Amino acid sequence: MDREATKQKYARERAKRLRPDGNDQYLRLEEQFSDMLDDPYLPVQERAPKTDHVTVAFIGGGFSGLVVGARLAEVGITDYRVIEKGGDFGGTWYWNRYPGAMCDTASMIYMPLLEETSYMPREKYARAPEILEHCARIGKQYNLYDKALFHTRVVELQWDESRSVWQVRTDRGDDFTAQFVAMGTGPLHVPKLPGIPGIDEFQGHAFHTSRWDYDYTGGDAGGALLEKLADKRVALIGTGATAVQCVPHLARACGTFYVCQRTPSSVDARSNEPIDAAWYGEATRESGWQQRWMENFTENLTGIAFEDFVHDGWTDLARRFQEKVLTLPPEQQADPVQMMRAYEDSDFEKMDQIRARVDAVVDDPETAANLKAWYKQLCKRPCFHDEYLQAFNNPSTVLLDTDGKGVERITRNGVVVAGVEYEVDCIIYGTGFLIGTEVSDRCGFETIGRNGVTLTDYWEGGMRTLHGISSHNFPNLFRVQPTQGANFIANVPHNIVESARTIALLLQHATDNGYKVVETTKDAEDAWLEVLSGASLMLGDPTCTPGYYNNEGQPLPEEAKSYVGYPAGAMAFFRYIDEWRNSGRFEGMAFS
Ligand code: NDP
Repeated sequence: MDREATKQKYARERAKRLRPDGNDQYLRLEEQFSDMLDDPYLPVQERAPKTDHVTVAFIGGGFSGLVVGARLAEVGITDYRVIEKGGDFGGTWYWNRYPGAMCDTASMIYMPLLEETSYMPREKYARAPEILEHCARIGKQYNLYDKALFHTRVVELQWDESRSVWQVRTDRGDDFTAQFVAMGTGPLHVPKLPGIPGIDEFQGHAFHTSRWDYDYTGGDAGGALLEKLADKRVALIGTGATAVQCVPHLARACGTFYVCQRTPSSVDARSNEPIDAAWYGEATRESGWQQRWMENFTENLTGIAFEDFVHDGWTDLARRFQEKVLTLPPEQQADPVQMMRAYEDSDFEKMDQIRARVDAVVDDPETAANLKAWYKQLCKRPCFHDEYLQAFNNPSTVLLDTDGKGVERITRNGVVVAGVEYEVDCIIYGTGFLIGTEVSDRCGFETIGRNGVTLTDYWEGGMRTLHGISSHNFPNLFRVQPTQGANFIANVPHNIVESARTIALLLQHATDNGYKVVETTKDAEDAWLEVLSGASLMLGDPTCTPGYYNNEGQPLPEEAKSYVGYPAGAMAFFRYIDEWRNSGRFEGMAFS
């Protein structure tokens, strides 16, 4: 392996993709393409607006809203209302029903509350319909459906000082109060389109992958053949984690299928397999098994595990790095320069393997060359799939590689790549979701706290929280998200189950003791930000190819520097927060 030559190749490929407009290259669907945001899965049900009061309102009906609801029910708080913009529980799994959608993190650690619901996943990596079913299972088991408001978007959240409640307003005319509000609105839920010239001129059919139009394509989310595409010419724009999963299905079905690529994904083997019931029974015999599995995965990824329960692409990546470090002489094993070199070496080796796999699978040498990813594996979401590369051997599937430039133009009739127009009947946008925009934008509403302070203003220049969960000036308000906590991105549900426990114990303490208001003190928030100031930023590697992990290759805005986790690592945070909430003192929170 020639390290220097590889680094130079990475830099050249990155340079091709850098654009001065960064995130501004994307279009919001709300503005010109709002019909592409409509829910294609369930009709909106008429209902009267709510003007009542609930103990806890939760914004977002994905895993966060479900797990918090379950944990609150366990501590006896059942007056709980979820507000969700989709037509059912599921969050990202409600919207993302494209063919082939599945989870890349092993189901035993990814699907929450398996132990509580006594559910055994069917496969090591669960498919989207099974995850959606599981969301409904949790909703039913914990009676979360009764009060849920679906197809409802919060438009404003305002603290009412005189009554010590939150006033919640929605786009369905609801105007109700809640003593406590929590939210898990997810980082990737507002679909975006590429700002390709002519995008509004296309006369054929078009949709975004997160609103899959099965009426047009035929087939279903379970993987049935998209039979209505047999005589169609279809272009898919994007080759990210979503595209990797739907390409094999489109390749099987379309008359002609063009895959428009700007940057190839790194695609390693997935090796999915059914879960064996006898093995599962044995692995899950002792109570608390799922927590132990989650912790084992996190320990593997943060370098402190002796065993690997999960055995997947993520733990493989981590263990390779650890093995490389162990080959260093003992005196170099704690030297940051040597550690970085060991990390780079293991990454180069892994990426070489992934590139060699392309040559081994793809028949046409030019297509194979264009499908190779030239960047460090964690510059973009690593992908794992056993049919993606194979799809390019299908004679009706054509890779339109744009050499890092993106689709040049969209016309009335199709897409233009390298000066050639390819006529198509349908364009599918696998172009991802907005990220890195204003707080109010990301949540879709403004939060107005004590004395009229907006969250956007309070967080100007950076996020301010205690443990990533609550902020001064915003009493009785809790967030479920990883930043400023464990920041453990490889298995987001682990962050969620921990936050849900913390919130449940806090609210139990408040309600048992008759407190109406719980608020993070300014001192505690400042002290936590001081702790976090020792953390290194995971985002924004300037040597990486542009993408949403590094602000499209542009310098990070000042506020992004606050998007860090506990400096001692994810597992250390989970241990710390467990002690904090179980002490019963909830240091840094003022109860009144
Ligand atoms: P991404 O943002 O990852 O990918 C968008 C794609 O669109 C990229 O390939 C991008 O190219 C391409 N693109 C954007 N503009 C243009 C253009 N002008 N011309 C051509 N191509 C263009 O979105 P995804 O929906 O794929 O994934 C989002 C995230 O969702 C993932 O990163 C992952 O976190 C999650 N996810 C997880 C899955 C799982 O666990 N199984 C499955 C699917 C998604 P470029 O790379 O050059 O920017």
